[in-house]
Amino acid sequence: MTAAIIDGKKIAQDIRQTLESRIASLKEYGITPGLAVVLVGDNQASKTYVSMKQKACEKLGIHSVLIEFPKDLTEKQLLEKVNELNNDDSIHGILVQLPLPSHINEINIIESITPSKDVDGFHPINAGRLMTGGEAFYPCTPYGIIQMLKYENIQMAGKHAVIVGRSNIVGKPMGQLLLKENATVTYCHSKTDDLVHHSKQADILIAAIGVTKFITAEHIKEGAVVIDVGMNRDENGKLCGDVDYNSCVEKASAITPVPGGVGPMTITMLLVNTVESAERVQTSSVL
Ligand code: NDP
Repeated sequence: MTAAIIDGKKIAQDIRQTLESRIASLKEYGITPGLAVVLVGDNQASKTYVSMKQKACEKLGIHSVLIEFPKDLTEKQLLEKVNELNNDDSIHGILVQLPLPSHINEINIIESITPSKDVDGFHPINAGRLMTGGEAFYPCTPYGIIQMLKYENIQMAGKHAVIVGRSNIVGKPMGQLLLKENATVTYCHSKTDDLVHHSKQADILIAAIGVTKFITAEHIKEGAVVIDVGMNRDENGKLCGDVDYNSCVEKASAITPVPGGVGPMTITMLLVNTVESAERVQTSSVL
């Protein structure tokens, strides 16, 4: 079997197109969706992500503000900036780019963002509502993966989804979102005994590990859907995922490439959440 390639770039483009009319109707009400991105320090990867997010906003007509601070910014100063953005009516989404310098407590910063502007979906209120229900923002990467699976008409209900990775930003919320879609979910992590035994049972395998080409054909069953979240560099500095694409493509029924798979969906869902946040403001002003 040779897998169908899931084209994240195309899916992301289609979703972004649907945002155009939503943004236009918000503008008719005098609302321009606004995203503030806060960058502390000079981490090169963070700078690249932030500039990609800004470009995506500009292309769609989302008002985007980049606030850059030197790496010696204090936690108190950052909290003050977040507070200012929380109270700024032109801003509907606040994103503090992680990782932060080690002297700043990330949890304190995440919890300082007002949940209604937490378009990353990392605040405990949003994380909690993902579990219990209610209006929430979902973390962009797993949310994007769900949209991808839906777009490709890949059935989740009743299927066994195995997630390798249990981070707060990808693995854990991925499991909750798949559960909402009525999949049966198994989590694996670095302490899992006999990981291959579990991964081989997956109808849908999500790799969110951060280890280059960790998942090989040996880890998957014939016909599995393989979603590669990883963004790593191989020995030649080339971008690659957590999945050994060349071996898995021969055995899976569908697979995401790296680049061009999950990555474009993550940024797109950030835009979706920002527009959604602005729409909530518009709806509450009408009511
Ligand atoms: P984390 O480092 O926070 O989590 C990695 C997870 O993988 C942990 O739960 C860890 O287990 C598990 N793990 C690590 N090594 C092994 C192993 N040998 N066997 C089994 N499990 C293992 O990473 P993130 O979740 O933040 O990111 C994962 C990958 O996804 C990275 O490559 C990252 O760059 C990429 N990423 C891509 C995004 C995109 O838009 N495409 C967005 C976000 C991340 P344990 O908990 O036991 O330590």
